[in-house]
Amino acid sequence: MAQVYNWHLGRSMEYPYEEQHPDRQFAFVFNINRCIACQTCTMACKSTWTFGPGQEYMWWNNVESKPFGGYPQGWDVKLLGKLEQANPGGQVWGEAEEDESGSPRGPYGKYAGKTIFEAAKDGAEDSPQRVLGYLPSEEEWRHPNIHEETAHGPVLGPRDGSHSVELPAHRVWYFYLQRLCNHCTYPGCLAACPRKAIYKRDEDGVVLVDQERCRGYRKCVEACPYKKAMYRPTTRTSEKCIACYPRLEGRDPELGESGVPLETRCMTACVGKIRMQGLVRTEPSGAWANDPGNPLYYLIQERKVALPLYPQFGTEPNGYYIPPRWVPARHLEQMFGPGVEAALEQYSCPDRELLAVLQLFRVSRIVLFRFEIEKGPKVAEVEVTLPSGRKKTQTIYNDTVRGFDARGQEVVRVTVEEPTFERPSRHLNSI
Ligand code: SF4
Ligand code: SF4
Repeated sequence: MAQVYNWHLGRSMEYPYEEQHPDRQFAFVFNINRCIACQTCTMACKSTWTFGPGQEYMWWNNVESKPFGGYPQGWDVKLLGKLEQANPGGQVWGEAEEDESGSPRGPYGKYAGKTIFEAAKDGAEDSPQRVLGYLPSEEEWRHPNIHEETAHGPVLGPRDGSHSVELPAHRVWYFYLQRLCNHCTYPGCLAACPRKAIYKRDEDGVVLVDQERCRGYRKCVEACPYKKAMYRPTTRTSEKCIACYPRLEGRDPELGESGVPLETRCMTACVGKIRMQGLVRTEPSGAWANDPGNPLYYLIQERKVALPLYPQFGTEPNGYYIPPRWVPARHLEQMFGPGVEAALEQYSCPDRELLAVLQLFRVSRIVLFRFEIEKGPKVAEVEVTLPSGRKKTQTIYNDTVRGFDARGQEVVRVTVEEPTFERPSRHLNSI
């Protein structure tokens, strides 16, 4: 195994292949707080890519209810259990190491446990297993939305205040988790494929299965910790999300050959405006190139308000989440690592700049590469409750945020205060 650097973990880790990184990386941020589980994203993907025979059970994009739901059923609980077995008490984080200049090397600290690559061998150096995983049974793929909206917490009783829904954390809670392939920096699927049929594109880091090379051994299905590689019995090959790459390349036939990268179908369809997709520049080392004007870089690297899903698995996923405000921190920390408290502290009471950037979710189908903010007047002061329970006053300014495409052209301009329009009520019947 080679040693590669995983910045989510703040340390090097074992991986079957040497470091090799794309020039730009497909990445996205989902704001869990805004999702209404309408499944429009799910259907947008399904009707574009997985409507054929053998693909009936394939949901490359799915939205599940946590803590009990999951597709395939129990995917994360099962893998966390296996990781714990191979690594008892080990899924813990310590202080970040310091680099030569004395700055912390990892944004979330240093992961002290084993990843799915390190835990795979189970002590046997000559073990042929490269990735810790499991193959879901057919039954586990049966229910794409099992336990929808089933809450965790005491059974609802009399309104005596014991079942409070006041912040900072609700006693009875659930939330929606939106999932697709993370186009990981160190993909488990790619690591496990004995045919070398899975590859990561140099131009955008999208992970694809070469259908000519694939022989359907399902090693990728077993090894993807997020269970986003799926077997198609009619072709006897595996398939997975392709990040709508014709759109990413700006050559979606329906939209013309503009050459400007467009967001994927699931992103553009999002009704709740929870999604933002981007292409971030990367260094040859795999680190993200310093680019604080890029909205994704800003949210993930500068403000650390969006966090990776199960970073302890070790694949360095490129999907990031703004965690839900009302869920107990212990649950969130297992899922998104130790950055949860800091992320929620900022999200619950965003400052002027962060609030402006948060307006850019789902405002254009064109991928945004840069933002600029024009200052506006102060419009309100509101009292908010932070995750710590502390109250704070948020000052809101009606700033304008502008978004620019890959060519540097302005494609969107939105204000913090949402404009409202009143229809004149002149007619009794509005049909
Ligand atoms: S999420 Fe799974 S299928 Fe997607 S790149 Fe990562 S390991 Fe591969
Ligand atoms: S379309 Fe958006 S709001 Fe609706 S389920 Fe998907 S992510 Fe959630």
